[in-house]
Amino acid sequence: MTKEQQLLKERLQSIEARIQAACDRANRKREEVKIIAVTKYVDADAIGDLLAVGVENIGENRVQDALPKHQLHGDKGIWHFIGHLQTNKAKEVVGRFPYIHSLDRLSLAQELNRRGEALDHVVKCFLQINISGEETKFGLSPNDVLAFLRETSNMKHISIVGLMTMAPVVENQEEARQVFRGLYEWKQRINEMAFPHAQVEELSMGMSSDFEVAIEEGATYIRLGSVLVKPE
Ligand SMILES: *Cc1c(COP(=O)(O)O)cnc(C)c1O
Repeated sequence: MTKEQQLLKERLQSIEARIQAACDRANRKREEVKIIAVTKYVDADAIGDLLAVGVENIGENRVQDALPKHQLHGDKGIWHFIGHLQTNKAKEVVGRFPYIHSLDRLSLAQELNRRGEALDHVVKCFLQINISGEETKFGLSPNDVLAFLRETSNMKHISIVGLMTMAPVVENQEEARQVFRGLYEWKQRINEMAFPHAQVEELSMGMSSDFEVAIEEGATYIRLGSVLVKPE
């Protein structure tokens, strides 16, 4: 094992202990929570190291950075597109990234559906909801969720498998709790509506600074960048 891999293993062990403790506090099973290693800060070699030490899920947030990395390692791991997606770049992502966490508008849904149809597959999406209401954040406004679900309900090549949100950057992770709880409530609400294309199982929420609270509030995917891969 290389020095880099050793360091990743040590970081994973300490993250693992924190995840387990959060699961224990919330009476959740450890298997319900998956780590996405967010690799935007690091190069393709580091992705190779992450895969070598057993990380399965890789998250990238910019198309132009992600493509060369995917070219090298895309046959391994499960790739998640987590960043804002321009409509004209959707074609690069569909077919390469099995999960897209940033569905936030009708025009993107239409394009993803079109691309999914061309490849004869169903694009698995997370609906990104701007729970905190911060103007700087992407995501569908909560007020628009119902109309969005109605307008996409006839799209056969997208499936909304989860919800995603980003909490405000705060000193104390407790302040993010309301945002995560809000996303959990949307999951319940959407599932009660019983749209065939929106059977929500997953909650993509929690990053390096707030993943423990996100787990306590029901996260099934936590997106970890700096705590895992930031160079020392
Ligand atoms: C960068 C990024 C993350 C990870 O952020 P860290 O705070 O470094 O863990 C998670 N989600 C998205 C969408 C990101 O862009």
